[in-house]
Amino acid sequence: MNVADEVKRCLSGRQVGEFYGFEPNRAGYISCPFHHEKTASLMLYKEAGRGWYCFGCNQGGSVIDFVMALFGLSFQQAVIRLSFDFKLGLAPTRATPQEASEILAERRAEAARREQERVDYAFLASEFRYWQEAAKVFAPTRETGGFFHPLYVEAVKRLPYLEYWLDEHLGR
Ligand SMILES: [Zn+2]
Repeated sequence: MNVADEVKRCLSGRQVGEFYGFEPNRAGYISCPFHHEKTASLMLYKEAGRGWYCFGCNQGGSVIDFVMALFGLSFQQAVIRLSFDFKLGLAPTRATPQEASEILAERRAEAARREQERVDYAFLASEFRYWQEAAKVFAPTRETGGFFHPLYVEAVKRLPYLEYWLDEHLGR
């Protein structure tokens, strides 16, 4: 079997679409990137060996056709790209459909981790600003006669941890 056939046999339209950033809806459709549309009418088949079909513009084909059209590549370039991205064919060991799924799952998990970290960072940065402000506003003064406002106490407790966390995650 040649590399192109191998690529088609191992991969599904759905794996390839998701790998390149598309998010199929429950029924397996995405908005077609090849014609302008609001509804999702391009089916990414989830069975290995099947590609895609757009019911809007009546185009379809294999995963190789999809990558050719998506990135404006020749047939051979698209085969190489898929082989490389899914570690098929051109890699010393060929991935099984199972391994291709795992590569995709890893990539998704990595994207989710990065997104979570971004959300955490934004949240903790706003917490940090809040408690910094609280430490200033509720700082004990001569007039309070040494009384420590609970929010000041809380702020002093929290700020070092927040500062440490934000430093650790800066620029990631
Ligand atoms: Zn279309």
